[in-house]
Amino acid sequence: NKYVFNFQEGNLGMKRLLGGKGANLAEMTVVGLPVPPGFTVTTDACRAYYNALSLPDGLMKEVANGVKGIELQKSQLFGNAEDPLLVSVRSGSVSSMPGMMDTILNLGLTDITVVGLAKATNNVSFAYDCYRRLIQMFGNVVFGIESIYFEKLLHQLKRELQVEQDQDVTAEGWKQLILQFKACIERHARKSFPQDVNDQLKLAIEAVFRSWNNHRAQVYRRINQIPDEQGTAVNIQAMVFGNLGQDCGTGVLFTRNPSTGAKVLFGEYLTNAQGEDVVAGVRTPLPINELQKEMPEVYSRLVSIAEQLELHYRDMQDIEFTVEKNKLYMLQTRNGKRTAQAALKIGVDLVRENIISVEEALQRVEVSHLDMLLHPTIDPEAKIDVVATGLPASPGAASGQAVFDADTAEQCARAGKKVILVRSETNPEDIHGVLVAEGVLTSRGGMTSHAAVIARGMGKPCVCGCDEIGVDAEAKQFTAGDRTINEGDWISIDGATGRVIIGMVQLKEADMSEELVQMLEWADGVRQLQVFANADSPEDAAKARELGAQGIGLCRTEHMFMSAQRLPIVQAMILAESLVERQSALNKLLPMQQADFEGIFTAMAGLPVTIRLLDPPLHEFLPNLEDLVSRHIRMTIQETERSAEQDALEKLIRKVRSMHETNPMLGQRGCRLGILFPEIYEMQIEAIFRAVLRCLEKGVTVLPEIMIPLVSHANELKILRELVDHVAEQVLLTHKNSCPYKVGTMIEVPRAALTAKKIAPYADFFSFGTNDLTQMTFGYSRDDAEGKFLTQYVDQKLLAANPFQVLDRDGVGQLIELAVERGRSVKPKLKTGICGEHGGERESIFFCHETGLNYVSCSPYRVPLARIAAAQAKL
Ligand code: ADP
Ligand code: MG
Ligand code: MG
Repeated sequence: NKYVFNFQEGNLGMKRLLGGKGANLAEMTVVGLPVPPGFTVTTDACRAYYNALSLPDGLMKEVANGVKGIELQKSQLFGNAEDPLLVSVRSGSVSSMPGMMDTILNLGLTDITVVGLAKATNNVSFAYDCYRRLIQMFGNVVFGIESIYFEKLLHQLKRELQVEQDQDVTAEGWKQLILQFKACIERHARKSFPQDVNDQLKLAIEAVFRSWNNHRAQVYRRINQIPDEQGTAVNIQAMVFGNLGQDCGTGVLFTRNPSTGAKVLFGEYLTNAQGEDVVAGVRTPLPINELQKEMPEVYSRLVSIAEQLELHYRDMQDIEFTVEKNKLYMLQTRNGKRTAQAALKIGVDLVRENIISVEEALQRVEVSHLDMLLHPTIDPEAKIDVVATGLPASPGAASGQAVFDADTAEQCARAGKKVILVRSETNPEDIHGVLVAEGVLTSRGGMTSHAAVIARGMGKPCVCGCDEIGVDAEAKQFTAGDRTINEGDWISIDGATGRVIIGMVQLKEADMSEELVQMLEWADGVRQLQVFANADSPEDAAKARELGAQGIGLCRTEHMFMSAQRLPIVQAMILAESLVERQSALNKLLPMQQADFEGIFTAMAGLPVTIRLLDPPLHEFLPNLEDLVSRHIRMTIQETERSAEQDALEKLIRKVRSMHETNPMLGQRGCRLGILFPEIYEMQIEAIFRAVLRCLEKGVTVLPEIMIPLVSHANELKILRELVDHVAEQVLLTHKNSCPYKVGTMIEVPRAALTAKKIAPYADFFSFGTNDLTQMTFGYSRDDAEGKFLTQYVDQKLLAANPFQVLDRDGVGQLIELAVERGRSVKPKLKTGICGEHGGERESIFFCHETGLNYVSCSPYRVPLARIAAAQAKL
């Protein structure tokens, strides 16, 4: 088993084995770009390490060979006292996890070799600067000592020497710090910093393997659904030095703007600095155009390499480079992380530049990010109190209460609060805080700092490098000018402009970008599935139509009963003692329902509108029993004589009690209501057809589809279909032929799916209500499962995903397949679709496509997502 591949032996196709960084370093080497020589220890070795809890046999021998290869190319020797070879030991997983795992630079320095390095480079302070960096990183990565201990010592030293910048520390200063660093390691780890370079290398490789399982890497994997078994590779590479003087530097370059997608080079660099300095946000770096002035030749070489890489990979690249004595080296390239907005723009632009095909552009769209695009921005009309401006690192606006550490952010979010995470700089350990925050604000660090990269990846608004604010995490406050903002105070950030605002802000709906419209158009040309929306009001319907819905797949009529004005009438209807009484309440509701339907039909003119008759149990519309009882108690205490009010209250309590159900989800609801109280459904059907008539008069084309919920036996649908036809005939009279309505049913009870053959003759369509169908197939009550045992199940990987989010193909999916097949066996043209929340989720949409459903229906804002996912399913 070969565990080590040098960069000439690898290529992009070997990503699984070499990790992304290793495969890309190999690819760049083979293409002839200036990459410092090195080799990769495979992810196989990492898995072997985890199985045996020690490095596999023979690995260190292969590593020694690899080092020999570098020595030959560099004409230097590892551990040599005169002119020592130094290497970096870099993590690199299969799926990119920026900054989540560990890397050690300058490995190979000891008390002896550091002297050699100083002589060979003729630069003593540089050599000791490298050495102190190595000891800190080694202490942190190998011995697990928090960086803060080292940073405090550095801070102290700089104060003593009265210098601001790291570069101004003298060799003597570094030597003093190195002694303190070594003591720090001995104090915390009870071990000394190894003086044998081969020990250093072995310990570093093991530590990088271990970093696969550090907390932040685990969190990142969970969020991004990266399998735990993948493991990381380790790259060992000759060091090049960006900290060797003013003709040196290090930087990061995106071939396009990762925030907006604009085709302009976007990057940052620092002169006289080493690797981590840029991404860690220690110093705020310079924009890449400055490099053009400072090192014009390096800049133009960089630009041409950037172009070459983009064409080679056919995607926007995120490049790490270092300049040593005016010579450019490439240290990494990968497909760059980007915002949803940028992703779309880049996709569309690459098609227009003839670099990728339409199909490829569609396939590259990460649909889960799409709905963020439609998220609100700050209303330009709103009055806002801007106190500072930082870098616009990730667009979108957010308001929340200020918190100053990731743990507090997590606690607050768990308590249902909205928070903005405010840090002086973030490091990857803050990821769990970023995850729950509405947005991130930092006072230091550039556009390519970890905070910015991660926020963009998650689609969170982020403002960074905002040096106008002073963050004091210990005091839990920040200052901006003469203002002080404390933990819990409301602030807002605008990640598109970098503005920091006191208080909450008025948000405004975003417009669809030209690129989104284009991508959706391409998707429509490809997909087979139709996309409908769930909408209960004319406004929602109009929004859905604007976003491309081809009809309404679910209009829930119960929402129309909930308004303050209508609820009393609905309650009177429910509490009615006689049919006459009930009918009089229903007569009041009828014109209201009719107006709702007219509005929706008009908004959806020419498109199908599926209306579901009343579904929830009636007691959901009644006051809460506990509230009534406590009101009654108060009344009895206060009043000495019985009042009419008290009588009425007692009657109400009796009624509410009598309607109580132990298990409402399985109780008197859905079509069962329609059968027990036909007058309710009759009113709704009448309202629908009266609305149809009104629309016909106005010349609006209407395609109503009436949907009966919760059917489990064909006879239920048979009876209710007769009711619909009967009412339709009475209302429509002579217009019957100009209104081709449909009657169908929801399939949301397993028995209905199983007996689809018997149900289909009465149904023009089946709409799978996958929320209920999932509840009933698993036997999980959704309200009792989510956030409770279901979360445990998913955490323990007992279930691959929450079945209420991702449709369960094996069980629920099988019922759907079977119902479609059995239904169509008696009615080949039966229209089928889903209207549960799954209709807006990519995996579930793929399932619907594969099962041959006609449509998915989802919430209006998910319609764009569904249009693209449906196209991806077809490709
Ligand atoms: P990450 O995955 O966190 O980006 P890297 O392995 O890319 O970690 O290393 C971080 C930084 O260290 C790089 O951006 C680069 O600037 C620097 N670095 C890594 N290897 C070398 C090297 N051989 N020579 C000089 N700098 C290096
Ligand atoms: Mg990197
Ligand atoms: Mg249902």
